[in-house]
Amino acid sequence: MQALILEQQDGKTLAAIKPLDESALPEGDVTVDIDWSSLNYKDALAITGKGKIIRNFPMVPGIDFAGTVRKSEDPRFHAGQTVLLTGWGVGENHWGGLAGMARVKGDWLVPMPQGLDGRKAMIIGTAGFTAMLCVMALEEGGVRPESGEVVVTGASGGVGSTAVALLHKLGYQVAAVSGRESTHAYLKRLGASRILGRDEFADSRPLEKQLWAGAIDTVGDKVLAKVLAQMNYGGCVAACGLAGGFALPTTVMPFILRNVRLQGVDSVMTPAARRKEAWERLVRDLPADFYEQSATEIALADAPKFAEAIINNTAQGRTLVKVK
Ligand code: NDP
Repeated sequence: MQALILEQQDGKTLAAIKPLDESALPEGDVTVDIDWSSLNYKDALAITGKGKIIRNFPMVPGIDFAGTVRKSEDPRFHAGQTVLLTGWGVGENHWGGLAGMARVKGDWLVPMPQGLDGRKAMIIGTAGFTAMLCVMALEEGGVRPESGEVVVTGASGGVGSTAVALLHKLGYQVAAVSGRESTHAYLKRLGASRILGRDEFADSRPLEKQLWAGAIDTVGDKVLAKVLAQMNYGGCVAACGLAGGFALPTTVMPFILRNVRLQGVDSVMTPAARRKEAWERLVRDLPADFYEQSATEIALADAPKFAEAIINNTAQGRTLVKVK
């Protein structure tokens, strides 16, 4: 099989496609033939070495994959069964999805949900799964379509695009925040009713005019601070990302004077029952045209080039990797 292998030399990460034997795979109870994987922001950080994602080299990156079980010592899975995986540290500290095969713990696998196939599952990938968790967090925070407008930041990225499409399908009015004019037509097609420039979110006062019933933030830092200052009384923000930085220069004012809820969202360690629920929701709530509109399909060999594009903020939507 072919695999993308990351190695480190003089403190720099080197990424190359190399042949890999099945016997070299790490321990685990299920071996999967991988058909599809994808590139997420975290993969881009790992492959380019721009983020300290990987501590042990060599490493096969790829935090998600979809494929067919080759052999299994876990009674819940059998040869020929289609499965998907996101998170659990796969592609970070356990060899991941950017290879022809992976060997993982059965606990980490999700049987392919009815209504999905491997290609669609990886167009969604970790990013889309996280967007669904964010939408569920808003619902649990009491945000309904009639509550008011919902803002999505980093809107033309993987999480942002899926969040815009999901919210629109569910009947919400969606405002998209993007740093790129080139993505405006795309965001409108996904269902954004208006688009705001990222530069409008550079500075904020502790409290500003109330604009948003809900928010999904993939950016962090000053953008999240501005969103918090603009939340309606009782609004909820689902924060999952740090594409703009991990700082949060805010005050307690939105929380103590406007009853704003800031809900963190993690996809890596999401328990199995919630995973199942989120995937079922994605099958139901993601519009059919999302898959064509949002996916750029690439070959495994092109993963390093597209990882650079993600870091340079020139990629749009989801980057799907055809492994087989
Ligand atoms: P993408 O690269 O696909 O999207 C990120 C988007 O953020 C870009 O498209 C861009 O949107 C915006 N952006 C990029 N750079 C900056 C910047 N310097 N300042 C402000 N905005 C910027 O990444 P993903 O959608 O895959 O991931 C988004 C974030 O969510 C990442 O930080 C990722 O680590 C995090 N994440 C967290 C998960 C969790 O479990 N908590 C799971 C998945 C992702 P535009 O051009 O429209 O402005």
